[in-house]
Amino acid sequence: MQTALERLVAQSQRIVFFTGAGLSTESGIPDFRSPSGLWTKMKPIQFQDFIASESTRQESWKRRFSGDRTIQDALPNVGHKVVAQLINSGKATSVITQNIDNLHQDSGIEESKLKVIELHGNSTYAECLNCQKRYEMAFLEEQFKAQGSVSDCLECQGIIKSATISFGQSMPEEAMQRAQSETLACDLFIVLGSSLVVYPAANFPELAKRNGASLVIVNREETPLDGIADLVLHEEIGTCLSILL
Ligand code: NAD
Repeated sequence: MQTALERLVAQSQRIVFFTGAGLSTESGIPDFRSPSGLWTKMKPIQFQDFIASESTRQESWKRRFSGDRTIQDALPNVGHKVVAQLINSGKATSVITQNIDNLHQDSGIEESKLKVIELHGNSTYAECLNCQKRYEMAFLEEQFKAQGSVSDCLECQGIIKSATISFGQSMPEEAMQRAQSETLACDLFIVLGSSLVVYPAANFPELAKRNGASLVIVNREETPLDGIADLVLHEEIGTCLSILL
């Protein structure tokens, strides 16, 4: 017998996924707000503090290169694979993600097709905040280990920062626009592993629902948007999605 989720997926022509840190916990990356989440261990660095202070910048590189390789070593899990499969088969058009771990790309969604929309950037590389020159983390790590700091941009002396969007930093305009048009064009919007409390990202599920799409939320805990969803599954993402593989 088909589950409610299988039925909704079968009936839809244009699915959009919306993913949060909960999708990657089954790959071993802790989320932020669960009891064992990252925020219980380390306070995030605000963008303004990163810009204002050289020592804060070096503190952020120290955290990055301190030996915890959880994100770098993580591999896509069943949830990522189901999302990739539905996108590559054309059933889903894109994934809007709050994650910064590159696991959607690693699960086989082609980067050139712009189907992964990153709202909070990507932690697997860095960029100059002035000229946008890209720096690979391996290069910066080598520099940090050799001289105890990461230098400014080789081209323009601008500040180099991991390509993530920090608290206090403005949202990436192009990604926000693409996320909005994908949301408005979908007929089924599926949230996977997000507490739905981080705005403006959490506007998208509400927008999809207001625009006539069905809304599914798969999250271990309750979210503020459970009340407007067509289907809410308080379950583990892997267990719940493996039937779609
Ligand atoms: P969040 O930490 O606020 O919420 C994650 C939610 O997922 C929680 O409600 C939790 O109950 C649920 N969850 C965890 N594991 C689950 C599982 N296996 N099955 C079902 N539900 C599960 O995450 P958020 O809403 O994405 O917002 C946090 C911010 O943290 C985002 O901006 C993101 O950029 C950043 N972040 C990203 C990563 C990553 O890239 N993997 C990791 C930590 C934080």
